[in-house]
Amino acid sequence: LTSFRSCGHGRLECVVYLVGPVDSPETITNAVHPVHASSARHYEVDGAWLTQFWLDLRADRTTVKTQVHTHGGRASHSKRDDDGALVYRPGFLSLVLPGFGLDDNCLDGAFLAELDDEGIWQEVALTERLQWT
Ligand SMILES: [Zn+2]
Repeated sequence: LTSFRSCGHGRLECVVYLVGPVDSPETITNAVHPVHASSARHYEVDGAWLTQFWLDLRADRTTVKTQVHTHGGRASHSKRDDDGALVYRPGFLSLVLPGFGLDDNCLDGAFLAELDDEGIWQEVALTERLQWT
């Protein structure tokens, strides 16, 4: 939420990647805020940054488990979100937070999508897939 607020300033979309060890599929250890451009309705991650990110992940034996990004209004998984996800691996999660992530309770209105085995994004309940400790 700190990244969303300091980067998005309540008027721009923002994105963070939740990263964890390859050998521990259910563990997230880090939130990485990429270099990106954004507007009130979209974001675009810097290509050079992304290339280095993939190399760093490989070197660290880590992987992206979930992408999290904000929408200005209500949370949903738009066609652009469907087509512009970072990873297309069955089980990959994409969490969308409403209101640019400004509200401390923004998870209440969040939308979680999971890529299924057919390559289709399906809405799933947060409590089924994510747990904060
Ligand atoms: Zn950002």
